[in-house]
Amino acid sequence: MDQVSCEVVADLLPLYADGACSGGSRALVESHLAGCAQCARKLAEMGDDRAEQLVEADAQRQLKELARRHTRRRVSVLAALVVLVGLLCTMWVFYRRAEAEAASFSCQISRSSTYDQIMDGLLEGMHPRLPKKGRYRLRIRAGASSGAIRVALTSGTGYKTYYTVSGSQLDEEQTLQLDEGSYVLAIYLDGDTAGSAVDYAVTLEAVGKK
Ligand SMILES: [Zn+2]
Repeated sequence: MDQVSCEVVADLLPLYADGACSGGSRALVESHLAGCAQCARKLAEMGDDRAEQLVEADAQRQLKELARRHTRRRVSVLAALVVLVGLLCTMWVFYRRAEAEAASFSCQISRSSTYDQIMDGLLEGMHPRLPKKGRYRLRIRAGASSGAIRVALTSGTGYKTYYTVSGSQLDEEQTLQLDEGSYVLAIYLDGDTAGSAVDYAVTLEAVGKK
């Protein structure tokens, strides 16, 4: 409420309290009092009980406004919570899916062939991409009628060798701690192998949490 109005109203208040105001002044004072608790209080101090109602009405208006603001704030907090919970649920679903994918990771190569031409060479390779750091089981069943089968697991970058085994008959099972990333799993035939019949099944899979 501006100062000039409050000052004008302060001058009019004694007349208003005595009921000596003109109709125009009374309307002016009452409309001002409805919105100005300070002037309404002044009128109450003069012993006029109309002021009490005006002050009360003003206080109630302020309470209502406060309640409205609170409700608005509560609604925005609730909306933010809903968004946050939705986001967490989505992240959880993705996390569980990634976990399930990692836990069910498995790749295999197997073949049964007779090699006439190959002498000392790569038979087959694959490039598994491990989804997660953890324990993986490497199973190797392989045999060659002449020469030796060699199986090597190396990292796809840097070519660090994690495991290698060689022999004419292999029946191996190893559990390895491996990082996430790309690998090379390769099967070679070593030695004089003309006409060798080879047979292999190599599996790399994630070890379950049991
Ligand atoms: Zn005032």
